[in-house]
Amino acid sequence: MVNLVLFGPPGAGKGTQSEKLIEKYGFVHISTGDLFRWHTKNETSLGKKVKEIMDSGALVPDSITIAMLKEELDKNPDANGFLFDGFPRTVDQAQALDQFMKENNSGIHFVIALDVPEKELRERIAKRKLTSNRADDEVEKLNKRVNEYFGKTIHVLPYYKKNDRLNTVNGVGEIDKIFSAICAVLDKK
Ligand code: AMP
Repeated sequence: MVNLVLFGPPGAGKGTQSEKLIEKYGFVHISTGDLFRWHTKNETSLGKKVKEIMDSGALVPDSITIAMLKEELDKNPDANGFLFDGFPRTVDQAQALDQFMKENNSGIHFVIALDVPEKELRERIAKRKLTSNRADDEVEKLNKRVNEYFGKTIHVLPYYKKNDRLNTVNGVGEIDKIFSAICAVLDKK
């Protein structure tokens, strides 16, 4: 069983690469952004709680996010490997994830960080906004999301670097080339 964290700022291509990785390796995909969007769309009590926060581009508090993630893990006891997409986004989330994995006698084996310059991210999201229908792709929300990434989420990288799990992949260029670079990391070990 191999568990992977696909890491990167908004617009780095995590969703696109996740789809390809799931197809090739059969991971169970856990995207906290997709889960939150499902809850807001279906107006669950959790969805009502987080809608305003999400629409503003801010991070949902750790207590809520970690509890939702744990529930999702518990729903998949037979998973032959998880791909975490958009989680962890804070050091507390990363620690909680390690703890949950440990409780299942497992761990996070790979962290792949997609490296994309800020200017390119903003251009990609401006393009995505035309079709995504996501309130948080609006310019001022996007600024907040990019700030959340560089203010909070980026501190997760040294956490994984410390215990030698971090692999950085250039996230600029053709989708298939980026995918091959990710596969090369996974297949090497
Ligand atoms: P994403 O689709 O991953 O960009 O997530 C969309 C929004 O969901 C984020 O801007 C946050 O408001 C919320 N969100 C998703 N994942 C997390 C997380 N791990 N921690 C906190 N908030 C999150």
